[in-house]
Amino acid sequence: MPNALLSRRDLLNGGTAALVMAALSERASARSPERRLALFNANTGERYDACFFANGRYRADGLAELNHAMRDWRTGATRTMDPKLLDLLVHVRDRLDVSSHKPLRLVSAYRSPKTNGRMHARSHGVASKSQHMLGKATDIAIPGVHLNRLRDAALSLRAGGVGYYPHDGFVHVDTGALRHWS
Ligand SMILES: [Zn+2]
Repeated sequence: MPNALLSRRDLLNGGTAALVMAALSERASARSPERRLALFNANTGERYDACFFANGRYRADGLAELNHAMRDWRTGATRTMDPKLLDLLVHVRDRLDVSSHKPLRLVSAYRSPKTNGRMHARSHGVASKSQHMLGKATDIAIPGVHLNRLRDAALSLRAGGVGYYPHDGFVHVDTGALRHWS
């Protein structure tokens, strides 16, 4: 029955190839999963969806897009945002089982010295040497996720500062020293 043998061998080869492909792609994604951020800027209405890490390294185009997205919207000033802050947002989002394509609501990120000085003069809650000025902080919310869950997810990562602002509708996260406040 040569025909039957052939077809059986073909079937086996095909099945093995599919298994190898699946194992390879699984290994590739485990080694360097892609990292992306979708953002909705609450001040300007702009939307961004950028892949900033792929194939084991940070991507310049994705980082540039996010630096722009997270600029000081009042003055237009940009700064290189700390990539660890972007990673932190990805981890917070993953911990909450939120899809990578669902936009985070961006309330504030980089603040130029001018903007921070003005805000500091108005409110004692704004630090004069803010992590926002270093490109290491952002104030965010996730539509559909209660703020205290967002805060708890950020706290559980123990990756920096976490501030809880329920009246303003956001959680502050930064990659500075480990601390928290509300
Ligand atoms: Zn903040």
